[in-house]
Amino acid sequence: MNRERFLNFYKELIAISSSSSEKPEEDVSNEEVIDLLISWLAPLGFSADKIPVPGTRGKFNLIAKLGTGSGGTAFSGHTDTVPANPKLWTSPPFQTEIRNGRLYGLGTIDMKGFFAFVTETLYSMDLGKIQHPVWVLATADEETTMNGAIHMSEILRKAPEKPDLIIIGEPTSMVPVVMHKGQLVQVIRCSGIGGHASNPGKGLSAIRILHKCMSALYNLEDKLKNMYTERLFEVPYPTINIGEIRGGDAPNKIADFAELVFEARLMPGASSDIIRSLSKEALSPIMAEFPNRITLEDAYPPTEAFGGGIPENIRTLFSEISGKTPIAVNYATEATYFQKVATTVVMGPGSINMAHQPDEYLELSEAEPALQVLRKLLEKTVF
Ligand SMILES: [Zn+2]
Repeated sequence: MNRERFLNFYKELIAISSSSSEKPEEDVSNEEVIDLLISWLAPLGFSADKIPVPGTRGKFNLIAKLGTGSGGTAFSGHTDTVPANPKLWTSPPFQTEIRNGRLYGLGTIDMKGFFAFVTETLYSMDLGKIQHPVWVLATADEETTMNGAIHMSEILRKAPEKPDLIIIGEPTSMVPVVMHKGQLVQVIRCSGIGGHASNPGKGLSAIRILHKCMSALYNLEDKLKNMYTERLFEVPYPTINIGEIRGGDAPNKIADFAELVFEARLMPGASSDIIRSLSKEALSPIMAEFPNRITLEDAYPPTEAFGGGIPENIRTLFSEISGKTPIAVNYATEATYFQKVATTVVMGPGSINMAHQPDEYLELSEAEPALQVLRKLLEKTVF
């Protein structure tokens, strides 16, 4: 690696604030990061499409490509970071600083820094003889809505030319991640008939109805353990958690309203559609017993699980180049969306334990080995 050049890529990336947040005052456009990437990639011959992302406050995606035709390998990352509180940092978050062999700065591993790795890889190779295209994909708003990845995957899915392998450089300590769970959140609302608690028979307790629904959900949870198994996960089956419950308003009144919110952790093979129909089926006898008194609906759109369809030769390729066995993780990434475009693997430098932390850093001793893995990946896939 050209250490000075690599550290300079890092310095310029980290210097630009691109934090995303639900709060408008902390939501910063990522446009400068996209422009910086274009300024590095264009001299190498990359074409660059800077695309406004709908539903965001002035955010952009980038689809950059070197070579012609379809297929090839894409490096993908998000350009936003979480907001930082400078008071919690030893050195300013928007300034790279090396202390004890560690490179500090906001986004060093989650994950603007990945673009320094990608750019250094591309600058250190002779790309004149590639047989398949090399792509660089950069998204917006991963830390909030994932709107960048959602929009980009829709565009690429319909595009006549797209990569056939996507590597997302989230910090996995360069261990290939081939699977993570998804999430479906649903709300059950029960309506009863209010009345005085002294004579329960004169009303209908919504809490009593909800209690039956809870039992049905816990039965479903047991059933799921036997229906689906994926040994790569620490918890090898889809889970259900009833995490919120509300209802009634006084001990001397029959509750006329009660509700609960639960989540199901989805797995490859156990999609939101499947779990949704199972939860409906579990509640249907209670719905029949209490007509028009129970509703079941999604709290917000689900995120599907990632993985499941990765071909064996790709798993083997990633084990070989990284020297590490592919794993499943318990955090979500944009792979949920990119897997609809092409075979996707999550693998990047840095430890996930440093993500979203003050004094985020990259262990500099990891840099050269990680660059070699990225170089090998290109050698094996596009030449
Ligand atoms: Zn990230």
